[in-house]
Amino acid sequence: MKKALIFLLFILTFFSIHSQTNPNRQVVITIDDLPLVSRLNDKQTYSSVTEGILKALKDYNAPGIGFVNEKKLEIKDVADPFRVALLEDWLKAGMELGNHSYSHPDLNRITLEEYQEDILKGETITKELLGKYQKEMRYFRHPFLHTGNTSEKKEGLAQFLAAHDYQPAPVTIDNAEWIFARAYDNAILAKDEKMKAKIGGAYLAYMEAKTAFYEGQSKKLFQREIPQILLIHANTLNRDYLGELLQMFHDRGYAFISMEKALEDSAYDSKDEFVGIPGITWLDRWALTRKMPKAFFQGEPPAPKFIQDYAGIRE
Ligand SMILES: [Zn+2]
Repeated sequence: MKKALIFLLFILTFFSIHSQTNPNRQVVITIDDLPLVSRLNDKQTYSSVTEGILKALKDYNAPGIGFVNEKKLEIKDVADPFRVALLEDWLKAGMELGNHSYSHPDLNRITLEEYQEDILKGETITKELLGKYQKEMRYFRHPFLHTGNTSEKKEGLAQFLAAHDYQPAPVTIDNAEWIFARAYDNAILAKDEKMKAKIGGAYLAYMEAKTAFYEGQSKKLFQREIPQILLIHANTLNRDYLGELLQMFHDRGYAFISMEKALEDSAYDSKDEFVGIPGITWLDRWALTRKMPKAFFQGEPPAPKFIQDYAGIRE
């Protein structure tokens, strides 16, 4: 009896220690601007970026979702079969695809009607491919995370998406990965291997700091860590570094889950009354809706100055 009790205590202690060092964290990996967003435009870049990203996702058993801009499939206004085939590779690899609009317009700058047209124009090829794999189009990712700078636009768009069976795809770990990616492209074009490695290392450190920051934001807002949704892009940086990025998440105790699973969490039913110009994380939207104090939003890690300088972009 005593032995059994000691054994039970041992098991309980083991699991409580284990759960502290390896919390049950979850993250969805979402990749925008498919098939490619890069300063490099050659076939080799298109295929290597697709292959590199899919390999990393498969290596880590991550059910990734790619958001497509169908305009990026075109050469001189015609869909290029080579690029369409790369898109199909995502489905062959068991990944999901969503709509990111046709031409990546800015909802702040055009009318809701123009924006809605662009959404519908952006689903043609992807829907056909999804059908081939017995899948359906389910998610829409707002370009620039702009969801409406007026309440009319915001509500109108939400209704439009629901009427067309789209679920908006939120983002919680928002970040300036795209600035690192521009810097990385610049280093590739400059054939500067040392700079490439330096940017890659800085990217991994920055993303870990961002992830830790949003883990904290989640705890402040929900008193727990909700399933996070990461936004990154189909670029050369992730071709070369997504594997290491996923290893970082793995080391922090994350399991990779689907968008569907994440959205089952009640946190994603939180009220979002944010109307405005900036594209911001859903954690900030929920916090603004709850009128959290200014201090809540502070302390976000910035992209290093050398990255911004080399990219020629200010954060
Ligand atoms: Zn985008």
